[in-house]
Amino acid sequence: MNSIESIAAIGAASSTLHGFADLRALQQSAGLKLIKAGRGVWVHDEAGRPLLEAASGMWCASLGFGDPELVEAAIEQFKTLPYYHTLGGKSVVPSEVLSERLLAKSPIGKGKVYFACTGSEGNDFLVKFVRFANNAAGLPKKKKFISRTNGYHGATLAASSLTGIAGNHKGFDLPLPGFLHTADPHYYRNALPGESEDDFCQRMVRELRTLVESEGPETIAGFLAEPVGGAGGVVIPPAGYYTRVQELLQGFGIPFFSDEVITGVGRLGDWFGSDTMGIKPRAIVMGKGLTSAYFPLSAVILEQELVDRITEGSDRNGHYFAHGATYAGHPVGCAIALAVLDIIERRNILDHVKRMAEVFKRRLLALQEHPLVGHARCVGLVGAVELRPLPGAAGDPGGELVKKVHAIAENRYGLIFRKLANNVCAFSPPLVITEEEINELFDRFIAALDSAM
Ligand code: PLP
Repeated sequence: MNSIESIAAIGAASSTLHGFADLRALQQSAGLKLIKAGRGVWVHDEAGRPLLEAASGMWCASLGFGDPELVEAAIEQFKTLPYYHTLGGKSVVPSEVLSERLLAKSPIGKGKVYFACTGSEGNDFLVKFVRFANNAAGLPKKKKFISRTNGYHGATLAASSLTGIAGNHKGFDLPLPGFLHTADPHYYRNALPGESEDDFCQRMVRELRTLVESEGPETIAGFLAEPVGGAGGVVIPPAGYYTRVQELLQGFGIPFFSDEVITGVGRLGDWFGSDTMGIKPRAIVMGKGLTSAYFPLSAVILEQELVDRITEGSDRNGHYFAHGATYAGHPVGCAIALAVLDIIERRNILDHVKRMAEVFKRRLLALQEHPLVGHARCVGLVGAVELRPLPGAAGDPGGELVKKVHAIAENRYGLIFRKLANNVCAFSPPLVITEEEINELFDRFIAALDSAM
């Protein structure tokens, strides 16, 4: 089996175990959809048909597909030094330069950056680093992490445990002990009848306080959240939520850690989603758009105090900091990330995102009038519509409507978006999308909605 056609036809008998898939349905399906090429906001399937990629792949190809500058940066680095490690006393230039540039841009300020490959690893390593730091500081009880229901933080054992999506725990004996979840600040879905946004935020914070107090604040190592929720439904907390949450955490001496795997590197119009949402994190995890997905690279940015504790612990234990990975600070990944930062600066991508976000918002919020749409929301270039069955139609707990709209959009109108639980259609197009392409995106989506009625 060596041709594209034969791989596509093989479908059910594919030797690849596919993730986040209904494996039984996949076994019965006619074949796999192969994506063969990509350019800008478009990808091409095996028949050469263009599809508008309104999800940037997996929220990640933020400078679009096939950017020649990124390809060039990769080739140059492959030629110079395709690999070297950053363990012990060794390092590589791209990793050193990238960590400095990320620190300079981040709200963390002074600190250090640890590089990994995936967002999951980044979150997993953050948990390890905080444990090590607290043990070193003589706080061995300070181990528990609080994250949020419907938050998504990845697929390793710790990252899945941080994740607050019940379906991701089922069958895997997760979450692991010590991973706690507090309520999801999704006002549209979780507000009580007649509850104002302000009252809702206060209730969210009361619930968090109750959790912290019942567990014992001295046992809580940190609170981890995405500034804007992604895979759990594009949850944008109401104004005031983060101010209150941070006040509460500060009072208990609990650090706020920001999972910026989606929101980092411009998605919300600033370098970091924490800046957009008014968060002052003590550590940040990045991934995805860091290399515009051209290479698996993630980063954990740690504030100086954590770094000091880790360094101190390393000395006190009488041996080195026993954590590392073969590909940490991979020179090709870091070179591509540096090219991403250069492009964002030189092409004024953040200004572009802010301008396009206005068009995106106007078109997305207008969908609120559509009979199949229950709620539309967005910030920067990430947004979602939550579908609802037509009045009088049966309920839709299985999300049949979103599956239908998704299939029609892709197969009939050449539009890819992300379908999520609770009938959510999520959009996170490449940051380089133009006004014309945003209009094209929503014209196609409306056609799919209309066809699904
Ligand atoms: N954190 C967030 C917010 C994510 O959206 C994701 C992936 O979707 C991850 C972490 C995990 O990243 P990865 O899939 O690269 O392991």
